[in-house]
Amino acid sequence: MTDDPTASATTEPATTEPGTTGFRANVDELVANNLRYHESFGDGPLDVRPRRKLAIVACMDSRMDIFDMLGLAHGEAHIIRNAGGVVTDDVIRSLVLSQRRLGTEEIILIHHTNCGLEGVSVDEFKKELEDEVGIRPWWALEAFTDPDADVRQSIKRLQLSPFVKYKDHISGFVYDVHTGLLSPVL
Ligand SMILES: [Zn+2]
Repeated sequence: MTDDPTASATTEPATTEPGTTGFRANVDELVANNLRYHESFGDGPLDVRPRRKLAIVACMDSRMDIFDMLGLAHGEAHIIRNAGGVVTDDVIRSLVLSQRRLGTEEIILIHHTNCGLEGVSVDEFKKELEDEVGIRPWWALEAFTDPDADVRQSIKRLQLSPFVKYKDHISGFVYDVHTGLLSPVL
């Protein structure tokens, strides 16, 4: 970190391929950005409970700004993200807290086109890891080939979970990363 927190704020972004020569960590620039964010920060009074009583489960994809693409403001919804936007045990954990302690009653699932998890060979991926580190991953990769089918699978998992309390308002969408448009999954 530099002494002047704004010193690196205008430099070029880091290369997109970590591990390759020339990679430069982002942290100093982001901390400087945050200092400016803090200077005009006005969200202090927001309640911990999302105002729209809404939780969104979405892929971690860097092209999806969930608040922006849905016209959401800070404090209005929980956003729970992982690779694929898959309903895992940990997503259930977050949703259960969201519903039972923080007042949400609606769940929206968002997968997308051109997902990094789409079409990945689970066997190859796990073998690659096992060959490299000596242990086969015990967790599911949750790769898929059809994002619509995967949304349906995720909705079923929610509906079958005994821990999810509010199931009357669950919907799923696939976001097109080339057009910015959401398509409902029926
Ligand atoms: Zn994705």
